[in-house]
Amino acid sequence: MDKPNDLMDKLVSLCKRRGFIFQSSEIYGGLNGCWDYGPLGVELKRNVKNLWWRDMVTSRDDMVGLDASIIMNPKVWEASGHVGGFADPMIDCKKCKGRFRADQLYYAVREGQSRQGGSASVWFSAIADKVEDASAVMELQLKKKGRQIREWTNDFELVRYDQEQSEQAPCPACDEKGSLTVPRAFNLMFKTHCGAMEDSSSVTYLRPETAQGIFVNFKNVLDTQRLKLPFGIAQIGKAFRNEINPRNYTFRSREFEMMEVEYFCHPSQADQWYQYWRKARFDWYVNLGLRSDRLRLRDHEKDELAHYAKSCVDIEYAFPFGVSELEGVANRTDFDLKRHQEYSGRDMSYYDDQTKERFLPYVIEPSAGVDRSVLAFLCEAYTEDEAPDDKGLPQKRVLMRLHPKLAPIKVAVFPLVKKDRMQEIAHKIHEQLKGRWNAFYDEKGAVGRRYRRQDEAGTPFCITVDGQTLEDQTVTIRDRDSLAQDRVSCDRIVDYLSEHLGN
Ligand code: ATP
Repeated sequence: MDKPNDLMDKLVSLCKRRGFIFQSSEIYGGLNGCWDYGPLGVELKRNVKNLWWRDMVTSRDDMVGLDASIIMNPKVWEASGHVGGFADPMIDCKKCKGRFRADQLYYAVREGQSRQGGSASVWFSAIADKVEDASAVMELQLKKKGRQIREWTNDFELVRYDQEQSEQAPCPACDEKGSLTVPRAFNLMFKTHCGAMEDSSSVTYLRPETAQGIFVNFKNVLDTQRLKLPFGIAQIGKAFRNEINPRNYTFRSREFEMMEVEYFCHPSQADQWYQYWRKARFDWYVNLGLRSDRLRLRDHEKDELAHYAKSCVDIEYAFPFGVSELEGVANRTDFDLKRHQEYSGRDMSYYDDQTKERFLPYVIEPSAGVDRSVLAFLCEAYTEDEAPDDKGLPQKRVLMRLHPKLAPIKVAVFPLVKKDRMQEIAHKIHEQLKGRWNAFYDEKGAVGRRYRRQDEAGTPFCITVDGQTLEDQTVTIRDRDSLAQDRVSCDRIVDYLSEHLGN
């Protein structure tokens, strides 16, 4: 069996070789934490977003969509708490200039494993005894102050305590002892300026989440759509976080995409909707092919909860580099609407005509990352097996067992050999199919190699036009996973595919 990192290496190389994912600005050495999706990746990502939008928005009666701007009035981020509190604690190595997130050390110890992976885990275990104490102290202090992890480096005692730890701990990257700084709070928002003046009055931020665009538009949507509670507002869009340590391929990026729902309901119904959404979102991943035994729901412990959340659960996936968060589902109470009401002076309340009650709705938030979903689907899909080559001899093959709904290319059409009639029929079939599905035509090289290329791209079906087609107007349709080949008459191809592709 592959070691986890071998599997990641193979996946990363396949993604580059076949055009799923490239390093951003690669010809200039790349940019840490930024990635580009190539021709196959963009289709996969688009499928993920379209399926989410269909399942969360258009197929429901209680959901509407929104597309808010990325740069917003900076007051939004003051009200949301991001300007003051959206910080991670970072530790620097004075020797090798490595930079690490201190809260990951906290989790690593608590869960008995490293979230950073690699050499960091050596460091964690080397000082495990001492850190065990440290985490206990942190936990206690967090409990006492009702603070969330992201805020804890503002806490002076903790910083001091950590200094003792860091003096003895070797750097996880270069092993130098005593080279680590104390943790410092580092705000994750990208700052920029709006307009020609570059002074403090023009400071704005790239949004670190899409959620706030929804909250500030709550009244606009409510008033224009004549909605009744409970209802949700959904948004897909880019978010930016200046992560201290981008890592694990696209898992932790600095520019990424989110798919978020803010589901508004009466406070008395919030617990019920919270239960509903944690199950609905878990099932969504399973239905698209993630194995349920690789997924888990991890409830946040009371002291881990963000100050605004009443309850929160992470949907986690067993990535090759460790079990990590795909999506968070939180009961955010009326925190956000209340804060925006306070900071903007605008009324954010909801009036119920029937009960004559006026109140601030509670919000359940399923917040998912597009890139992390894509990565989980890619990890799950990567498979190696054996398949007969052109001479019928078994040969190792790599295939991406993507769910047909996610597959970038749904069907490929080949003439067996480059003969006029075969090419002509194959072109005709391709023309007919491409209006409905993403279909690909290929006539280059041996047919076995063409199959392999489609296996690596995750294409569920390949249609081959051969000698027999010229006689009886039938083609072979080959299944990517089972390798079974069905003989299907040309006028039944569309029916066959819609049956097997599920749309
Ligand atoms: P983490 O603890 O991993 O930093 P988080 O708890 O800060 O994540 P949320 O603020 O809950 O994440 O964001 C919601 C979702 O957005 C996450 O579940 C994840 O899928 C995605 N996400 C957050 N940060 C990143 C990132 N840096 N790169 C890619 N996706 C991200």
